[in-house]
Amino acid sequence: TIVTRFAPSPTGYLHIGGARTALFNWLYARHTGGSMLLRIEDTDRERSTDAATAAILDGLSWLGLTSDGEPISQFERAPRHREVAEELVRLGKAYYCYATPAELEEMRATARAEGRPPRYDGRWRDRDPSEAPAGAKGAIRIKAPTEGETIVHDKVQGDVRFPNKDLDDFIILRSDGNPTYMHAVVVDDHDMGVTHIIRGDDHLTNAARQTVIYRAMGWDVPVMAHIPLIHGADGAKLSKRHGALGVDAYRAMGYLPKALLNYLARLGWSHGDDEIMSIEDMIAWFEIEDVNKGAARFDFQKLEALNGVHMRAMADAELVAALIDTLPYIENGKALLEKIDEAGRAKLLAAMPGLKERAKTLVELADSAAYLFVMRPLPLDEKATALLAGPAKDVLKGAHAALASLSESWDAASTEAAVKAYAGEQNLKLGAVAQPLRAALTGRSTSPGVFDVLAVLGREESLARISDQID
Ligand code: GLU
Repeated sequence: TIVTRFAPSPTGYLHIGGARTALFNWLYARHTGGSMLLRIEDTDRERSTDAATAAILDGLSWLGLTSDGEPISQFERAPRHREVAEELVRLGKAYYCYATPAELEEMRATARAEGRPPRYDGRWRDRDPSEAPAGAKGAIRIKAPTEGETIVHDKVQGDVRFPNKDLDDFIILRSDGNPTYMHAVVVDDHDMGVTHIIRGDDHLTNAARQTVIYRAMGWDVPVMAHIPLIHGADGAKLSKRHGALGVDAYRAMGYLPKALLNYLARLGWSHGDDEIMSIEDMIAWFEIEDVNKGAARFDFQKLEALNGVHMRAMADAELVAALIDTLPYIENGKALLEKIDEAGRAKLLAAMPGLKERAKTLVELADSAAYLFVMRPLPLDEKATALLAGPAKDVLKGAHAALASLSESWDAASTEAAVKAYAGEQNLKLGAVAQPLRAALTGRSTSPGVFDVLAVLGREESLARISDQID
């Protein structure tokens, strides 16, 4: 069965590119009935932090990209990495190198002078181990092939050929006994039974070196798929401005996990012309072969539009729950959350059909729902203040009287009829009445339909808010 893995380095948050890599591995595992493992690549002790590991786990769990089994720490496996390096020496596939820092620097300087990439000259490759300087702890280097080529059979990039003369005898175990990253990845992937490696194409040259280690151990090389990196909308390398943020930032911006997943899946992968997909759709349709070779472009507007579509497709109660869950993570959301009690939740639910028509994110939804929970007298924004200036007060007075005398039940239809009748009597356009009403009821110049607002707020609260604005 198929085993994929996601192998983040815990040196920062789970960024958007990492989330997409995790998603592709997860989708492929789910699609094939296999499993996805999680390995925290914390070998670099200086740059790895527990906080970063926690942020990555949190990001994955928010997105629902759960791994099978406990996360594996690469650092903890160092003894096993050492064991394999020593095994390679015994097999004659690797050797101890005692080149001094000064010698290595000289090799680099020569390379610089000749204008070529630095490479180790293999000076310990064929020397007898008995020549080792007394007491020196050597580093272990792999005996890389010197002729022919190493081919990475990549599911996305096709066959990628690397001339072996360019692969030098790279270090697999440092003289302090610590494995290099290159080596640790191979040993871990092998021991974890990984069959498919899906990762960013910035790892493609590593794949050639890793292939050398697999071959030296006589292990099967996993299927590889190096996916193109994500670029900004303008085609440049993804920067913060373009959306190179942690997934927690996307939560704070009010995106739904399912919308973000849908968007990320479409960044570099496609299934015909399908744009809107559920997670079940993606699982059913995901094939590595359908991943594009070209760089994908991150476009906030598309993400927003997609998020809006997913929001409107949700049942109102589900959307209320999603909003409540997200409020703690969005700016000023905690303060709003504190005001939402049982009755508030019911109000939110009643208002949701009107609210969700406009909002593209949960942040916008929270913002447009805020009028439900403000204390009287309402603070007015600038435009609302302007709408209530001058003759509007008299219009508002009349509207108040018309609404107050409503004898039937108070709902969107009955309040609309009353306001329309009043506007007709006064020879006013409906907007001339509705606009000041909206300003008085919500403190804003835009809101869901004003009659929906009246219905959701109820008779008492609505009339009180209107009174507040007519002195
Ligand atoms: N730890 C690497 C990274 O975060 C991934 C290595 C791999 O997938 O092989 O870029």
